[in-house]
Amino acid sequence: MQKADRREIALKRAQELKGKIRDYIEAKAKIPKGLEMQSRFEENKRKLLKILNAAEDNWNDWHWQLKNMIKDVDVLSQFIELDEEDKRIFKKLSSLYRWAVSPYYASLMDAKDPFDPIRLMGLPSAAELVYDIGEMDPMREEYTNPAGCITRRYPDRLIINVTNRCANFCRFCQRRRNIGQMDRNQPKSVIQESIEYIKQNPEIRDVLITGGDALLLEDHELEWIISQVRAIPHVEIIRIGTRSLVTLPMRITPQLCKMLKKYHPIYVNTHFNHPKEVTEDAKRAAEMLADSGIPIGNQMVLLNGVNNDKHVVMCLNHELLKIRIKPYYIFHPKQVRGTMHFQCSIDEGMEIMEYLRGNTSGLAIPTYIVNAPGGLGKTPILPTYLISRGPGYVVLRTWEGEIVKCRNLPSKDIKTIIKESKQQGQSKGVAG
Ligand SMILES: *Cc1c(COP(=O)(O)O)cnc(C)c1O
Repeated sequence: MQKADRREIALKRAQELKGKIRDYIEAKAKIPKGLEMQSRFEENKRKLLKILNAAEDNWNDWHWQLKNMIKDVDVLSQFIELDEEDKRIFKKLSSLYRWAVSPYYASLMDAKDPFDPIRLMGLPSAAELVYDIGEMDPMREEYTNPAGCITRRYPDRLIINVTNRCANFCRFCQRRRNIGQMDRNQPKSVIQESIEYIKQNPEIRDVLITGGDALLLEDHELEWIISQVRAIPHVEIIRIGTRSLVTLPMRITPQLCKMLKKYHPIYVNTHFNHPKEVTEDAKRAAEMLADSGIPIGNQMVLLNGVNNDKHVVMCLNHELLKIRIKPYYIFHPKQVRGTMHFQCSIDEGMEIMEYLRGNTSGLAIPTYIVNAPGGLGKTPILPTYLISRGPGYVVLRTWEGEIVKCRNLPSKDIKTIIKESKQQGQSKGVAG
């Protein structure tokens, strides 16, 4: 084929590919993206500072944010439009499933739109009372606790739950049963017991410090735990689980980064669910961690009405990569009582995974996980790309749905291959 003809084919294909992404580009323009909403958030911040009778300096102080968590419906309704019915529900829910939101996270909310994704995630809903099926502990975490505040479900890694505190009581929380009515850090003795367990189990090479939100501990409390874990010779990596980048980004301070850097390899896993959460403040926080050499992964949860949409998920993953966060997991929502209105089907998750592959970079494609009920573990779910197979071949389906047959050769001992090749080369007069 002539060069000009080959170019012709490539141009036609490029045109076709352009067509495939057109839908997304149109949809994306309508998705609220935090990085484009800075002036709106600033305006909300000014309103909230006034309501809370505070100054600009207070806003960037994470202790101030925590002390001023909004949990009173009369305060909230000065900012968010609520009718009498809403207020009644909020009051009723306060005693059943506690709610509270940092002023920062509240500033991302749309005061007028009850279906704003941040409001759906951050503020209580009548549906929590009505959809009262589901279990309090579907993962049976209470049965996978061999010592202290550990959850162990896998051979080489485990979780230590160091606190039940959070900068927002997310309405879809899988550990809702731990939130209760009181903030509670694990007592030092319980953490000590957990560390002792890790010391005595040399196969544990990856320790996740989580909660609640592990970064709600003070720097010195966190450093005490991290330094103890780091001193255990068989622990290779330490991971920190936190939603602070989303709900309290001012928590990421130069002092915190300086402390964490001393204990590398440290990884952070965070939890963004919607592109609106990827703000200038979140960007600053993520960049500070990344500049300190900490890789950040994102664990999204699929949520009805928030992100059960292929375009929203693709957009979120792009926004995250822009701020140096790698999409790590998409979790199918667990069937926790009081969160059932966020349920969606595995078909919806599969459709999203099908859409991502091919349409976007591999970097923007996390693993989709359904947690097997009863705490039986993370189970990956993928659309099927392997259609059939037989001796010497497989039939594959490509990302565009083309069916192709490929040769499938078994491996042969590499030493034998090289030895035989040398002999054959000699007989062919290649060698020497
Ligand atoms: C999710 C989880 C982990 C971490 O799993 P990765 O797949 O390594 O991210 C570890 N322990 C428990 C109990 C978990 O639920």
